[in-house]
Formats: sequence, C-alpha cells, structure tokens
Amino acid sequence: MNSGNAQVIHTVSELVSLIQTAKRSGKTIGFVPTMGALHDGHLSLMRASKAENDITVCSIYVNPTQFDNKDDLAKYPKTLDVDVALLNTVGVELVFAPSDTEMYPDGMDYVINVDLDEVDKVLEGAHRPGHFEGVVQIVHRLLEVVQPHHLYMGQKDFQQFTIIQKMIDNLEMPIELVVCPIAREDHGLARSSRNERLSAEDRGRACIIYHTLNEMKDDIHHLSIDNLLTRAELRLSWSWTELEYVDIINGNTLTSVSKVDDQDYLVAVVAVWIGGVRLIDNLILYKN
Ligand code: AMP
Repeated sequence: MNSGNAQVIHTVSELVSLIQTAKRSGKTIGFVPTMGALHDGHLSLMRASKAENDITVCSIYVNPTQFDNKDDLAKYPKTLDVDVALLNTVGVELVFAPSDTEMYPDGMDYVINVDLDEVDKVLEGAHRPGHFEGVVQIVHRLLEVVQPHHLYMGQKDFQQFTIIQKMIDNLEMPIELVVCPIAREDHGLARSSRNERLSAEDRGRACIIYHTLNEMKDDIHHLSIDNLLTRAELRLSWSWTELEYVDIINGNTLTSVSKVDDQDYLVAVVAVWIGGVRLIDNLILYKN
C-alpha cells in the first residue's frame, strides 16, 4: 500500500481482508464514500482523512437506488481511471470500486429500518422521492463492509450528513462522522460532478446561488425571514433558472424557521435547476 499508488479493489472479500489485516496491526481507517467523477471537493475529504488516519479508503460507486431520476443515473459520469489518478495525487491507499452484485448480493429491494426523526422527509427528501432510502441503504452497506474509525462527508450535502449521523447514532455504530467544508469554484459555485454538464455561460451565471446565500447571511439580523426568502426567490428567478426551493432551516432539525429569535443554528439551503442541471448548495448563517 504505497502512498501515491492506490490499490484498486472490486470485491468485498478482498477489501474486508485488507482492512482486517490493517486493523490487526493497529492501523486506523478513514473512509470517504463517493460516486466518482472526482473533483477538488472530494479531494478535500481525502486530505482530511489522510491527515487523521493510517489508511484512507475511497469508494467509487454510482448507487442506482438513490436516483429518483433514471436520466440522471444514465448521465452520471464514470471516469474510474482519471479518478484513481487523482486519488494517487493525494496518496489514498485503497480504492473500492464494486459492481452492483457486490454491493447488493441479495437484490436492491430492501429498506434499512432506522428512525431518522423525519429529517429525511423535508427538502431533498420531499423533492426526490426514495433518494434518502437509497443513500441510507448504500452507506449502511458500505460501513458494514469497511467498518472505518472515521467517515468523511461534505457539508455540501447538508441533509445527507445529518441523516447519516442519525443512522450512526440510532444504530450505535462505533464510527465518528467528520463533516468537511464546501469546496467552491473561483466564483463561488459549489464544486459538483454535475457542474461539468453546465455550459460555460451557465457555469458563470450559477454563481448567483452563492451570492444569494451570502446575502441572506449578511442580513440575517436585519431582515425578517419572510423578507430574506422573498428577496432570495427573486434573485434566483431568471429565464435560465428554475427554482425548486430556497429556505432557512434549523441546522439540527432541518425544519423551516419563521423567526430568527431563539434559534441557535440557522442554515440557508437551496436547490435550483440551471441549464438542465439540478444544483444544491447551503450556507451556515450562524451557529451559537
Ligand atoms: P458524491 O460523489 O457527489 O456522492 O459526493 C461524495 C462526497 O463528497 C459527499 O460526502 C459529498 O458531500 C462530498 N462533496 C461533494 N461535493 C463537495 C464539495 N464541493 N465540497 C465538499 N465536499 C463535497
């Protein structure tokens, strides 16, 4: 397992045996699950894991069960060789790139029973039916296989890491979830594999999302939530945008708030379509 020369593994049995050997010699395991088409945002998670663990495992698997939109699944880029080359630049030791049958030996048609306190029902959960059932299913399966000490996820998918933290707590998994900040392009657009599908013009225009989030942060103590949201909706309404939602939520419960008073953790969240690509982003407005 030389740094700079990742070992690419396709089967659960091989991965489990390598991890067991590493653990027996007292090594710590950091795990970063991804769907590939890696960019700097993903690499920041790898770097965080590298800094805190002896072995970093990155999985690359486009999980069919979390796609509510078949077209999105079909269009999801698959670039394993380029991904492995990128992972080598940061010294990831193990890359796990399984097939569907390795991940779902008994079929995909099952649900992980875990109490998520309704945090999966709002926002992305409301707009993408079945998405989080699929996410919980695959992350549960991957954690069962990898059994890492630390799991690294991005703040970019705010609701996703909140749900996975609930799953870890609820099932009492001995894993620490580490949430890493959002990596952005120069003009503020949150990095995403989907950005590659934007035209150059739309990619430039998409910085309106980050500007809008920042404007909410600037004025959170000066304007009412209603006024903040009305203005944000206006900012995000163009002939080339289709706004799915923009909201201000409590960062723990993910429920919409109507007043700033009494709130200790506020987050602005947004989902908007630009040029046929669905983009999500968020910004912590404050956390006491
Ligand atoms: P994905 O491959 O899109 O499923 O993402 C894999 C992991 O990378 C998830 O934990 C994401 O939240 C995280 N991630 C994706 N984009 C970014 C970003 N721009 N900054 C930080 N983390 C990210």
